[in-house]
Amino acid sequence: MSPVPAPKPNAFPDPAMGEPFLLTPGPLTTALSVKEAMLRDWGSWDGDFRAMTKSMCDQLVALAGDTSGEFVCVPMQGSGSYCVEAMLGTFVPRDGKVLVLANGAYGLRAAETMRYLGRAYTLIDKGDYMPPRGDEVGAALDADPEITHVIAIHCETSSGILNPVAEIAEAVAARGRKLLIDSMSAFGAIDLDVNRIRYEAMVSSANKCIEGVPGFGFVIARRSELEGCRGNAHSLSLDVFAQWANLEKTGQWRYTPPTHVVAAFLEALRIHTEEGGVAGRGARYAHNRDVMVAGMRALGFETLLKDRWLSPIIVTFFCPADPNFVFQRFYELMKDKGFIIYPGKLTVVESFRVGCIGRMDEAVMTRVVAAAAEALAELGVASAAPPAAALAERAKLAA
Ligand SMILES: *Cc1c(COP(=O)(O)O)cnc(C)c1O
Repeated sequence: MSPVPAPKPNAFPDPAMGEPFLLTPGPLTTALSVKEAMLRDWGSWDGDFRAMTKSMCDQLVALAGDTSGEFVCVPMQGSGSYCVEAMLGTFVPRDGKVLVLANGAYGLRAAETMRYLGRAYTLIDKGDYMPPRGDEVGAALDADPEITHVIAIHCETSSGILNPVAEIAEAVAARGRKLLIDSMSAFGAIDLDVNRIRYEAMVSSANKCIEGVPGFGFVIARRSELEGCRGNAHSLSLDVFAQWANLEKTGQWRYTPPTHVVAAFLEALRIHTEEGGVAGRGARYAHNRDVMVAGMRALGFETLLKDRWLSPIIVTFFCPADPNFVFQRFYELMKDKGFIIYPGKLTVVESFRVGCIGRMDEAVMTRVVAAAAEALAELGVASAAPPAAALAERAKLAA
């Protein structure tokens, strides 16, 4: 049997199958061939599966732009948060100190992870969405020489903001500190090329922009950095160094790997390559966003973020001021029409989110907007314009 699933048509899902599109940041809508790749069983110790793991890791390192063998990829079982915890626990020495950059739920989760790890950290909390900027990161590092590492969130999925990781990376590198990146919802669609952005390690997972199914994540790290991480980890199963050492020695994961999920992921990677890699994937998502945002704005909806900060991953919209708009009702109506949207996560005003990632194209996004128009009519909402408080909130963010 060939270790890599045979190429199949990269089918977009057929809405006639009755499966709603997931306009969410993952798990997301996957290609039929990705699901079909899970229809056989693999022995985790067998040479075929070891070859699949190797092929996957080689492809992921290439996606990060490394051609010199300076970087390695270590897959880790579990959802994305397990892998963030594994990265922090493995790369930050026990006497290290982390600067956590937060502007939403995932940044705060990284801080909470540090608290669980019992390791020193300090937090820059920018609230619901304001981006952490390079100059303030630099100032924080200058003020505290004990900080050894910085953790940044690439796309903060809770608002959909694309954080300025390039300027953060410059500020960190200029001061000789180390950068760890949670690129969970960005890697594969937004450039994180090691030749352009300096970092020691980043983490992402199977079920976001590569469009696989959930079950594992992966750390891509500078080999020289990982080599120095023996004994740092707080947890046996979350030790990235030990997982890497075992992979190097035996080609196997420690403990049961999600074999079917890896098979599906290889098919997802094949489609990703066929689509033109990071640039091609990013272009489709950006187009999805542009079509969807233009349509929603034409209905009167307003985005939380000004265009400059909008990621092609997920977009936050303010809920309309009209008292006839009830999010739960809107959600159910959208679901009846075949689209699962996502509640918002802002603390100040009511909002909801619409994802642009997954096996969806312009035609699907046009239907999303038509469904939203119908849902508004059914609710008796005349205008989708947000309350004045929402627009005042948005005015705080620079263009
Ligand atoms: C999805 C995501 C995670 C991980 O979430 P899980 O639910 O554990 O998979 C972490 N960070 C960001 C920015 C994410 O988008």
